[in-house]
Amino acid sequence: MFEYAPAPESRDVVDIKPAYGLFIDGEFVDGSGPSFKTVNPATEEQLAEIATASSDDVDRAVRAARKAFGVWSALPGSERAKYLFRIARIIQERARELAVLETLDNGKPIRESRDVDVPLVAAHFFYYAGWADKLGYAGFGPDPRPLGVAGQVIPWNFPLLMLAWKVAPALATGNTVVLKPAETTPLTALLFADICRQADLPPGVVNIVTGAGETGAAVVAHPDVNKVAFTGSTEVGRLIARAVAGTDKKLTLELGGKAANIVYEDAAIDQAVEGVVNGIFFNQGHVCCAGSRLLVQESIHDELLDALKRRLGTLRLGDPLDKNTDIGAINSAEQLARIRELSDSGEAEGARRWSPACELPERGYWFPPTVFTGVAQSHRVAREEIFGPVLSVLTFRTPAEAVEKANNTPYGLSAGIWTEKGSRILWTAERLRAGVVWANTFNRFDPASPFGGYKESGHGREGGLHGLEAYLDV
Ligand code: NAD
Repeated sequence: MFEYAPAPESRDVVDIKPAYGLFIDGEFVDGSGPSFKTVNPATEEQLAEIATASSDDVDRAVRAARKAFGVWSALPGSERAKYLFRIARIIQERARELAVLETLDNGKPIRESRDVDVPLVAAHFFYYAGWADKLGYAGFGPDPRPLGVAGQVIPWNFPLLMLAWKVAPALATGNTVVLKPAETTPLTALLFADICRQADLPPGVVNIVTGAGETGAAVVAHPDVNKVAFTGSTEVGRLIARAVAGTDKKLTLELGGKAANIVYEDAAIDQAVEGVVNGIFFNQGHVCCAGSRLLVQESIHDELLDALKRRLGTLRLGDPLDKNTDIGAINSAEQLARIRELSDSGEAEGARRWSPACELPERGYWFPPTVFTGVAQSHRVAREEIFGPVLSVLTFRTPAEAVEKANNTPYGLSAGIWTEKGSRILWTAERLRAGVVWANTFNRFDPASPFGGYKESGHGREGGLHGLEAYLDV
C-alpha cells in the first residue's frame, strides 16, 4: 500500500433523517413493528432508525398497490414512459446524493457508486421507459397484459441497482410494486420513494416496506401478490420457492454464484490480471457473479500470480467516501464473520493464504484482499460462495479440464474467459453452464442484456426483453 492524498466526498450532500417510516400509497407512514438501526459499516456509526413493516403494514401496502394497479395499468404506455423518463432524469440530477448515501449505508467505494451503480440505475429506467409504449412490438403478441401487484425482495450488495432491475420493468409493463429492501441497506430505497413523489408518480404504484426476513416473507406470502421477484441467497430462494409453490404467483429467482474466471496460457497477462482483480475485488467481492475461482493454465500459474500480487499491492483499502479508495468496508458484522469463517477453513484444509501488506481501520468491518493458492476442488473456499474479497486459485492443463472444473459447482450464474484465440472463446463458452459468459472482460452490465443463472443460481432472467416477459402474461 502506498501513501496518497485523501480526497473525500462530502457526506453533507445527503440529508439523513434520524428516523424513517414506510412508504405506502405515496406517503411516509409509521410501521407497527419494532424499529431497527442502519449503520455505516465503515465506522459502525448509526445512520438512522428504520421502521419495520408488520404483516398488517404489508397488507396495507399491497392494498394500495392493488388500487393503483387499476389506474396505472389503464394508462397508455406512452404515459407510463413519461413517468419512467422523469424518474431516470431525477436520478441523474440527484446522482451525487444517491451515490454518497449508497456508499454510507453499504460501505462500497464512492468511485463505484458514482461511476457504476447510479449511472446503471438511471440507464435501467431510461431503457425500460423506452419499451413502455412498444410492448405490442416486443414479440409477445399484440396485447401482452401486466400481472398485477409485484412483490419484490432485494439484497444489500447493490441496493439501488437491484431496485432498478426490479422496479423499472415492472412499471414499464403496467404492474405496481411492493418492494422490500435489505435490512442493512434501506436508505437509498427510501430516497427513491422521495424521487417517486418528486416525479408525481401516482400514489400506490411504488410502495417500500422495510424490515428483516419476516417482512419479506409477508410480502411473498400475501395472497393478493401476483408476481414474486427475489434476489438474494440460494438458501432464502429455496424458502421462497416453497412459499410460492401451489399458488398462481409467477416467480423469478436471482441467487448465488461461484464463477470461474478461466485464464488460458495465450491470454494478454496484464489485461487478464486487471480482469481477475475487477472480477473478485469490485464491491469487496459482494457480487453474485464475482469471479471468485481463478482457473489458470498451469504453464502460466507463477507468472500470473506474481503479476496479480504486484497489482494487489497497489490497491487502496479505506474510507469509502475517499475518491481514491479501491476497496471499501464489508457490509455487516455478520458478513464479516462469514468471510472470516470460510477463509479460516481454507487454511485449515491446506490452501495457502496471501494478502498484500495492508492496514485495516480500527473501527468498522474490514477484510483485506485475500488470495488462496494450492486450492483443491473439494475445499470449501472452492465450493461455497464467500461473498467477500477472497480469490481461490486452481489450475488446469487442457481446455477440457478448464471446462470440467468451471462447471463443477452447484451454481451457474457467470464465467469469464481470457484468451487471444476467438475459436477458443467460442469452444469454451458453449460448454460452460453459466447464464452470463464474459470474454476478455468481466462484470460488464447493460440494461439491454438479460442476466440470470442456471442450476442453483436461480431461474428467470432480468434485463432486456426477457426482463419484460417476467412481468407480463403473454
Ligand atoms: P439474503 O437471502 O439473506 O437476503 C435477501 C433479502 O431477502 C433480504 O431483503 C432479506 O431481508 C430477505 N429475506 C430473508 N429471509 C427471507 C424470507 N424467509 N422470505 C422473504 N425474504 C427474506 O441474501 P443477502 O445476504 O442479502 O444477499 C446476498 C446473496 O444475494 C448472495 O448469495 C448473492 O449471490 C445473492 N445475489 C444474487 C444476485 C443475482 O442477480 N443472482 C444479485 C445480488 C445478490
